[in-house]
Amino acid sequence: MSQENINQPRSIPRPVPRPERGSRPERNFQQDWDSGPEPEPVFGQHIRLLDVNKPEGRVICECWHCTEGVLIQHQREPQQEEIRVTCPHCGKVAIKLQVAKILSVNAIPSPWK
Ligand SMILES: [Zn+2]
Repeated sequence: MSQENINQPRSIPRPVPRPERGSRPERNFQQDWDSGPEPEPVFGQHIRLLDVNKPEGRVICECWHCTEGVLIQHQREPQQEEIRVTCPHCGKVAIKLQVAKILSVNAIPSPWK
């Protein structure tokens, strides 16, 4: 008793593989950052703006490189070009802000962890 399945449906080759679920896009961004010559302003990191109506605002964010929390006090006006804020944890560029002046940078526990 031998049967041959010659009517198997042919699968059409798919040129685009499905993206894996559960893969974290942040990692790709981070790789781009690390491999690139200049850090790009990417809005893929955690950031929270405080005191947005005051001349001196605050930003809580995670460092792009080490994802530790950083509290940045800044002067809002007059707005300058992007200022690179150095991470107090790892010493790399934590974030780039388009503000007038950085007043202080403090290391805090990340509120997102
Ligand atoms: Zn850092």
